[in-house]
Amino acid sequence: MYAIIGAGPMGLCTARQLQKHGIAFVGFELHENVGGLWDIDNPHSTMYDSAHLISSKGTTQFSEFPMGADVAPYPHHSEMRRYFRDYAEHFGLHEHYQFSTRVVSMEKLEKGWRLFTEKDGVTREWQFDGVLIANGTLHKPNLATLPGQFSGELLHSSDYRSPDIFSGKRVLIVGCGNSACDITVDAVHRAASVDLSVRRGYYFLPKFLLGRPIDTFGGAVKLPRALKQRIDGLLIRALVGKPSSYGLPDPDYKLYESHPVMNSLVLHHLGHGDIKARRDIAKVDGKSVTFTDGETAEYDLILQGTGYKLDYPFIDRSHLNWPEGAGAPKLYLNVFHPEYDDLFMMGMVEASGLGWQGRAEQAELVALFICQLEAQAPAAKAFQATKRERASIRLDGGYGYLDLERMAYYVHKDTYRQAIAEHSAALRPTAKAG
Ligand SMILES: Cc1cc2nc3c(=O)[nH]c(=O)nc-3n(C[C@H](O)[C@H](O)[C@H](O)COP(=O)(O)OP(=O)(O)OC[C@H]3O[C@@H](n4cnc5c(N)ncnc54)[C@H](O)[C@@H]3O)c2cc1C
Repeated sequence: MYAIIGAGPMGLCTARQLQKHGIAFVGFELHENVGGLWDIDNPHSTMYDSAHLISSKGTTQFSEFPMGADVAPYPHHSEMRRYFRDYAEHFGLHEHYQFSTRVVSMEKLEKGWRLFTEKDGVTREWQFDGVLIANGTLHKPNLATLPGQFSGELLHSSDYRSPDIFSGKRVLIVGCGNSACDITVDAVHRAASVDLSVRRGYYFLPKFLLGRPIDTFGGAVKLPRALKQRIDGLLIRALVGKPSSYGLPDPDYKLYESHPVMNSLVLHHLGHGDIKARRDIAKVDGKSVTFTDGETAEYDLILQGTGYKLDYPFIDRSHLNWPEGAGAPKLYLNVFHPEYDDLFMMGMVEASGLGWQGRAEQAELVALFICQLEAQAPAAKAFQATKRERASIRLDGGYGYLDLERMAYYVHKDTYRQAIAEHSAALRPTAKAG
């Protein structure tokens, strides 16, 4: 019997794959229903009222459960909550879950794991042959320390729900990831003024090209990496220009070496003077903020869009092959512990265009490995050797990803999916029989 922690997209597709491969499991979810952060009422959710998919529906959806034709290319988060509830209903996953139940700790046994859960103040003990952790990567705020004392309101993007909080205020947004840019655009319509403090350069991509979601282009022809970076870089330059044309820093790295920002509205508003670009913060004193270019301005509210940290509070770090100072555990394919065969990190992966289907493929590989391990098949032995040797290898497709904490578990989608597909083929029982 296996345990799954979490009923977000990753937990659900993991449950589906275990079900498909006949592996018994119990799921644990601290919220009362499925959907993970796509359910804005989940206490772990970092959604905000205006949020929509950032990757398009075709790139993101589970291929065995496509979204309806009436669903927009970039649907609203509430539609995604419905989608996950429908998915769970369709495959009969709800009944496998213990809802409103938080996993509080887990202990390694000689064989398997002991898990402690908490529901309505009552603690319960469980025992499992293995545990699949799918508790999400975007719930623990990465708070930056400000250089000085701010006397206004200080928030992180995880606290943000509605633009009402900006009404009539002088707002400074810090950071330029996808959420930070969405929130900056929201603020334009409410705030007295909106400034955006950006430390490094970003590539901005429009969500649509020729009336189609931009992430639907480029799949047919696989260009060599350097050529793709150059051609796509020129295309982006032709479409939106250089960030410095809008007052932002230009990237000092090549396209795809960091996660691009899927937002051209922020550039639109910068170009209209609705948003003012600011440099990194040098000093804060009361409501006054001085930037590294020497300019100073006053703010009523600072919102930090500074991202998230990985967070596994229920398991001792020593079980995760996570060296001190490393941004993420060192696990083969971001999933497999080099030594343990009964612990799997699900969904600790980020990649442009991986979507939930890429996560479902990851879950299928784990299910196949568990099956073959139980059957004591030679394919499982071979995979054990691979994961032991390759735990520290990063599947980056040759892209020199920036050395940032948020990029620590970033992979190159095609390289990653290909590796998953090859291992899955080797572990699939039919492949052996054939
Ligand atoms: C605004 C926004 C837009 C996004 N847009 C996209 C997009 O367009 N495309 C894309 O691919 N990704 C997008 N993402 C990334 C998003 O992380 C993934 O889509 C997806 O939600 C990850 O699924 P998950 O199951 O790994 O994590 P989550 O959705 O975070 O689910 C984790 C679940 O685990 C539960 N849990 C956590 N700890 C415990 C515990 N101790 N015990 C029991 N349960 C626990 C949580 O309650 C939660 O339900 C976006 C994220 C945000 C915030």
